[in-house]
Amino acid sequence: MTNPLYDDPFDLHTRLCDVRQRDAWRRRARRDGPVSPHVCVEGKPLVSFISNDYLGLAGDARLVEAWIQGAHTYGIGAGASHLLGGHTPAHEALEESLADWVGAQRALLFSTGYMANLAVVTALSGRGFTVYENRRNHASLIDAVTLAHARRVRYRDSGDLERRLAARLPGRGLIVTDGVFSMDGDVAPVALLARLAHAQNLGLIVDDAHALGVIGPAGAGTLAAAHLSPCAGIALVGTLGKALGVLGAFVAGTADLIETLIQTARPYVYTTAVPPALALATAAAVRIAREEEFRRTRLRQHIAFFRSEAARLGLRLVPSDTAIQPLLIGGNRATMAAAEQLRQAGLLVGAVRPPTVPAGQGRLRITLSAAHETADIERLLEGLAALPAGGS
Ligand SMILES: *Cc1c(COP(=O)(O)O)cnc(C)c1O
Repeated sequence: MTNPLYDDPFDLHTRLCDVRQRDAWRRRARRDGPVSPHVCVEGKPLVSFISNDYLGLAGDARLVEAWIQGAHTYGIGAGASHLLGGHTPAHEALEESLADWVGAQRALLFSTGYMANLAVVTALSGRGFTVYENRRNHASLIDAVTLAHARRVRYRDSGDLERRLAARLPGRGLIVTDGVFSMDGDVAPVALLARLAHAQNLGLIVDDAHALGVIGPAGAGTLAAAHLSPCAGIALVGTLGKALGVLGAFVAGTADLIETLIQTARPYVYTTAVPPALALATAAAVRIAREEEFRRTRLRQHIAFFRSEAARLGLRLVPSDTAIQPLLIGGNRATMAAAEQLRQAGLLVGAVRPPTVPAGQGRLRITLSAAHETADIERLLEGLAALPAGGS
């Protein structure tokens, strides 16, 4: 049906033209087969440095087997939300193993990290609260503060936060941060943030999407690395679609926090539970991630090798000791051109542009995985060295 008066009532055409003109157009490249360092994208074999599968678990046969067994036991869909019949022993066992891993009293499973962040921020703040958020926080944390109707104070770094806290008016509030910043790879100073939060009687939420499985003893995350655990005042968000190789997320904290989320958090109450088979596959991933230390060792070796060779080549890396190794390029067009040149050379890297990063800070987002071979990283370095002016 066409209506000549309402040809484009939402101005979609103009909006899309605008995206194109800013060289900000995004498209979804189709990958065949499982996540792996060696992928086939739209018919072209590529060495991939784009996934968040930091431990190489996304295609692990043991996860596949757990999923199949789970499907035989439970079928596919959970059938309902957790509170209306969708909850199973598989979900509950996963929650217990997650809580045990990160040293919390309890953990609560969510369908995605996006929803876990909406839930925990809205549960712990609201109108009249002040939320101190790092400017580089993940979009889901930023959106969560909006949804909570809290007053937002953005800070650049811990020094900036300290100044803002010194000038603060009394009242309830939170400090909210990524544990590892997703576009830069640096680790938040969570011990300092916990001290600042405690001194001001504020809560602290740490989103460990890129740290869980990778950082800290047995991969328990940034809090564990700082000898902290989720406790009264500190909530941890972990996601299960990155180093764990599956999907979903959890909030870990005190029993009271988890019960509060179950009773009141709308992104928990009003959504279907994840498939029980997925919970079983995730539980297998948690076991492997905790036990197979060699994966973290290997990843650390790759990171050290990549950084020392990149420094030798004079590449513009940012200071990151994690699996996320961004290479700053600048403008949108140059960023896309660099990624395309690498693709021609058989290398797949992420090209990240605003609004995901600040204007003018377009970058190649390179992620390393325990599943890579040293030869893969050598190929990447060759490709990067061939970029105009060595990538700068
Ligand atoms: C990926 C990510 C999320 C969202 O997690 P999903 O499970 O993919 O929704 C949240 N926070 C950070 C820092 C992330 O990188």
